[in-house]
Amino acid sequence: RTDDDWLHLPNRWGIPVDICAGTDVPIESGAVDEILTVLETADTLERLGAVTGHTGAEIDRVVLTPDVHKGAGIPIGTVLQTRGVLIPQAVGNDVNCGMRLETTSLTVDRVRPRLDALERRLRHLFFEGGRRIALSGVQREALLREGLPGLLGAGAPSAPGAPQADGVWRALRPGDAAPGRIHGAHCPAATADAFRDWIHSAGGTSYDSVIGSVGGGNHFAELQYVSAVHDRQAAYAWGFGLGQVVLMVHSGSLSLGQRANAVGLERARAAWPGGVPLPGNRIIPIMPGERSEPARRRYLDAFGNAANFAVGNRFFLALMMRAGLAAECGELDGELVYDAPHNLLWRYGDERVVHRKGATPAGGYAEAEGGPYAMWGEPVIVPGSMGAASYVMRGRGNPRTLASACHGAGRRVRRGAAVRASDAALDAFLREFRVVTPLDHRDPAVARRSDVMAAWRRDLKQEAPWVYKDIGPVVSSLSRAGVADPVVELRPLLTVKG
Ligand code: 5GP
Ligand code: MN
Ligand code: MN
Repeated sequence: RTDDDWLHLPNRWGIPVDICAGTDVPIESGAVDEILTVLETADTLERLGAVTGHTGAEIDRVVLTPDVHKGAGIPIGTVLQTRGVLIPQAVGNDVNCGMRLETTSLTVDRVRPRLDALERRLRHLFFEGGRRIALSGVQREALLREGLPGLLGAGAPSAPGAPQADGVWRALRPGDAAPGRIHGAHCPAATADAFRDWIHSAGGTSYDSVIGSVGGGNHFAELQYVSAVHDRQAAYAWGFGLGQVVLMVHSGSLSLGQRANAVGLERARAAWPGGVPLPGNRIIPIMPGERSEPARRRYLDAFGNAANFAVGNRFFLALMMRAGLAAECGELDGELVYDAPHNLLWRYGDERVVHRKGATPAGGYAEAEGGPYAMWGEPVIVPGSMGAASYVMRGRGNPRTLASACHGAGRRVRRGAAVRASDAALDAFLREFRVVTPLDHRDPAVARRSDVMAAWRRDLKQEAPWVYKDIGPVVSSLSRAGVADPVVELRPLLTVKG
């Protein structure tokens, strides 16, 4: 059944499943098939309920966003609400992957002429050991336990035992993170041992070598400018002006989130009642109730640590962008607009659990907690690609999407197919847009290494603008469906890709 911007999927469980996407937004049929498989979890919950006595544990509602596409097990772009049940696989592997957006006091006219120098500086800061972020043991622990507020509370740069004040750190003022809400769960830290293991598995020798990494693939740190204002009042309230330079960071918890999910799955299996066969769709929920309590607690700890780390990592990536900008373009000011997670679960009391896998919160007045958000709704960050516009929208708290929106344009061409694009297409893109990668493709010594260049081109083609959907129809679909409305449009100036 369709009505303009909605597609309702009937199913034998009677679970409301809505796809929010207009007819001009391409949707992968494979992703739709997959979500029907996921609904078989309703049968699993019924069987588990019969054994454990928790018969009320159910899936309430499922929403697919306009950027939905096939993912491992559960499509990316899925919002799933349950009654008390945790489904680690409905969170996404990269726990608390998200988008952070900060304004600056610079204009595009000031930054554009300095892009060459900025590119060199950012390459050094991001990839050539320029970041030197030193955290004390206390600060690392505080970040995992309490998130960014914990880290900042654990020691301002001037306090004894505080981080080495150099380059990046000097740009850190305690007030930097205060505006905007931090969504990470406040869980006790994993044990020190688990933490050490993670550092080794991430290939680092110390925690400090890991934090401030962009992460590969679709993750990025991007300089953009405000190219159009669609809602003047909200734009003003959130600190935007036409021609202003802003920075957007997309990154997650690196491999820490994967570990958290592995812990979740392992605990879910361990808590599985004997005599009940494991589900055919291989999605293993953790039920509410005393029996599963240790599993839940262990998972939520690992999940919370990863979530907190991700916010910290985005914070540092933004700080590194700021350090580069300050060095090349002069002192700058700015504010955090929002830090929006798109792989996370939210618990509301014991009853309601909202899982978002590749979907971002889009609350309205009611969901926003004070400040400019209460007036205008929750900021919704919808990136397009490194060669197209991105949008900031304001959420309307639509209950039909569980107050959620898409977290991007969404992939249209799979990675495997994307590498077959022509070199000429990539060259045309590179002439028009600026991409900073660990490898300097303009260096003649690098350009001569055909094997190195081929691998580099292959990676970039998988993230080229044409592999993503057209952002325009995605944004208008959200707007027509009453999910979120555009506030400003942003265009890329320079994209750092891990
Ligand atoms: P994810 O990879 O988390 O599923 O989605 C990220 C979204 O970000 C994609 O759907 C795509 O629209 C967008 N995106 C990917 N790469 C870039 C980039 O380099 N710059 C911008 N602005 N957006 C991007
Ligand atoms: Mn992501
Ligand atoms: Mn991610």
